[in-house]
Parts: sequence; structure tokens; C-alpha cells
Amino acid sequence: MVDTQIILRGVKDQKVINAMLKVPRHRFVPEELTDRAYDDMALPIGEGQTISQPYMVAVMTELLELDINHRVLEIGTGSGYQAAVLAEIVKEVYTVERIASLSERARQIVRELGYDNIFFRIGDGTLGWPEEAPFDRIIVTAAAPEIPDTLIDQLKEGGIVVAPVGSRYSQVLLKGIKKKGILTTQESVPCVFVPLVGERGWRE
Ligand code: SAM
Repeated sequence: MVDTQIILRGVKDQKVINAMLKVPRHRFVPEELTDRAYDDMALPIGEGQTISQPYMVAVMTELLELDINHRVLEIGTGSGYQAAVLAEIVKEVYTVERIASLSERARQIVRELGYDNIFFRIGDGTLGWPEEAPFDRIIVTAAAPEIPDTLIDQLKEGGIVVAPVGSRYSQVLLKGIKKKGILTTQESVPCVFVPLVGERGWRE
């Protein structure tokens, strides 16, 4: 997976490559899909949601320009796989999921795998996690019409946010850097994510 889907497609950050080599993706997919866990695609995880394509996880993680001291907010815990990849690289990961059953399952898997630097919250991630803000980095793993202001407010000065932004059915990955309180964005690759549903996202 890492050689053919990630390195060959241009991901270079060795921290990201090492993390993707280490995290056992098959533990995060439903049991009946274990033999497809390393395929080049998103897979269903129940509740109409997905674990993102491995390449997309790698690109988003690389765009964040992570270092070991960072505290990262993830919106959209899903399976917990992206959170585990982040947790291999940074000090602390705060991850918010609106569907309780997914959050609870993810929490159980990462506990079994021994991660103690991932913190879970069930709720509307479009509102961020104000009690733990500000964050060095923010990653949104569901698609929104725009990056919610609430999240930009919870990003540190000089911080980076990565999010799929566009219509409900097709988006582009945006990387935003916050300088003097203003977010400057640049487009990365096209993508398709499930919708970010919430007060500052799409209505259900
Ligand atoms: N990062 C996940 C992983 O590694 O498996 C993939 C996330 S999946 C593509 C998107 C997730 O975002 C879904 O689990 C969905 O329930 C969640 N989501 C959508 N809107 C949300 C919101 N407002 N707050 C928190 N989670 C949300």
C-alpha cells in the first residue's frame, strides 16, 4: 500500500510514510472487509460513513506539516485510523465525531493498540473543541461548503488547517495557513468526502 499508493504518487514526508507503515489499517475496518483494508479506496465503516482512502490520509497528513510538539484537532473520527496516523507523529490528537457508535468503536480500537495520546469527543465538530483550543493544526475529514469560522478561531497563529471544501458530492482539499488572524488558502488535490453535518456545515 505505502509503496504503490503513497510513495509512487509523490508523498515524501518520511514521518507520514513511517506512520502509514506502522498503523495496522486492517484493525480499523469492519471484520468482513479485513481483506480489502489495504486497497486503494475508501471503505464503509457503518452508519453510512467511510474510512478514507489511504492516499487521501497520507496527503492530508503531509499537508499539515506536523512535528512532534503539535496538538492536533481532527473533525470526523470515523474509524479512528486518521487519528492513529496523526498520533504516531504528534504529541496529542483531539478528535470529534457526531455519531456516538463510531466514536466508541474507534476509542476501543486505539486503546487496544496502545495509543494514549488520542482524546475523543462526541458532538458537532463544526463547533470545534473550545475547551482545548487553540490547536497547532486542524484536519477536517468530512466535506463542508467552507471551512467553519469556529475552527479558524480555534487555530493558533501560524497554524495550518486542511479540509475538503466544495459541494456535497465533489470537493478539493484546501490547505489554509493563519497569519495575523487571516486564513490564506491554497488548493491541493480533488476529492470526494462524506458531508460535514452540523451547525456550521451541511444540514442532515
Ligand atoms: N477520519 C476518518 C477515518 O480515519 O476513518 C474518516 C472520516 S469519514 C470520511 C467522516 C466522518 O465525519 C464520519 O464519521 C462522520 O460521521 C463525521 N462527521 C460528519 N459531520 C460531523 C460533525 N459535524 N462533527 C463530527 N463528525 C462529523
